[in-house]
Order: sequence, then C-alpha cells, then structure tokens
Amino acid sequence: MDATALTAWLREFARLVAENKDELTALDSAIGDGDHGVNMDRGLTAVVAALDAEPPETPSALFKKVGMTLISKVGGASGPLYGTAFLRMSAAADAELDGPGFAKVLRAGLDGVVARGKAAPGDKTMIDALAPAVDALDAAFASGAGLADAFSAASEAAARGREATVPLVARKGRASYLGERSAGHPDPGATSVTLLMRAAASTLGA
Ligand code: ADP
Ligand code: MG
Ligand code: MG
Repeated sequence: MDATALTAWLREFARLVAENKDELTALDSAIGDGDHGVNMDRGLTAVVAALDAEPPETPSALFKKVGMTLISKVGGASGPLYGTAFLRMSAAADAELDGPGFAKVLRAGLDGVVARGKAAPGDKTMIDALAPAVDALDAAFASGAGLADAFSAASEAAARGREATVPLVARKGRASYLGERSAGHPDPGATSVTLLMRAAASTLGA
C-alpha cells in the first residue's frame, strides 16, 4: 500500500460519508446535536480538495494532510478525534505499508483517539467500532490471511461493533448528557467508522 492506494481509500471514505450524510445526521439528532453528517462531510470534502491540489507522495504525508485538514475544518468532538487518529497514523507510517504494517498504523490511530478522548470500549463512541476493526485486522494477519479477507473481516467487525452500541448508555461526548435515554440508538461516530472500514475493504482489500 503506497500513497496512491491509501488516497483511494480516503476518497472512497469521503464518497461514502457524502452518500450517508443524512443518515449520520439523523443518528446524531437522536442522541446528540444533529451535526455529525454535516461535520464529517465538510471535513472530508476539504480533505479531497487538499488531495486534489497537491497529491501527497508518502503515506505519512497523506495521513498528516488528512489529520490537519480534519482538525481545521471539523468542529465538535469528531474533528479533533479523527484528526488526532490521522496524525498518529502519520507518525507511525513507513514509506510502504504491508497488511500488518497498516494494522500497526491503524492501532496507533486508535491509541490516539483513546488518548485524546479518554473513552473506553463500551462508552458508546467511535472506539466501539474502531477497536474491534483493528483487533480483527491483527487476528487476520496473524493467521496468514490476505488483504481481501483481512479488510473484509475488519469491516464486518466494525459493523458489529457499531450494532453493539445500540443498547449502550453513552458515557462520553454529548450523548452522555442524555443518560439512559441515549440507549436504543447506534452511536453516530461508530457509524462513520463503519464507513471508514467499509471503504478500506472495497479499496485496500480489493
Ligand atoms: P459533537 O458531538 O461535538 O457534535 P460530532 O457529532 O461530529 O461532534 O461527533 C460525535 C461523535 O464523536 C460521537 O458519536 C462519538 O462517536 C464521538 N465521540 C464523542 N466524544 C468522544 C470521546 N471522548 N472519545 C471518543 N469518541 C467520542
Ligand atoms: Mg454532533
Ligand atoms: Mg456538534
């Protein structure tokens, strides 16, 4: 995986977020302030424009550009959290990534989200989709799986993690203000992470 392949992943993520913007916003209207779709779409539209203007030549430069753009263009919780993930990924990325190398980079991103947001698994946040996805990637590569099987497993793990947020009571972010009333709805950030991993499966895993 070089900068070109990884750029295709992030462009596909931007496309899926645009396509699902209204759904993400509806989910955030149920337990937050109804802007997650708008926030992510604004940020990723800016990311695509930045990549068009000057295509990064290395994975590290790519992730840095994505992280800086998300931090500067996306307000709220998700901008700094996704932005931190990509900046940590930038710091962890070698010039070319094989499958296990990518898994290591994505785990660095997850660690960044945890460090920044102080949420734990089960708090009903994006971590509940991202952590299982990273674990699934590690498990797949440890058992000798190829990219297609590994990314498909990671995408499914993210989707299952997102479904598992439905009954949870939120303990971080705006949804936590609702207390018990946050139960019964999927977490918006876990839903956008599901799109990130679906995009990985259809580009990096293809
Ligand atoms: P805001 O809540 O500021 O309006 P968004 O609506 O864009 O920001 O993003 C909300 C999402 O951010 C939540 O659904 C959740 O997944 C994620 N989130 C919020 N706080 C945290 C946190 N402390 N750690 C991890 N993720 C968080
Ligand atoms: Mg919101
Ligand atoms: Mg907001």
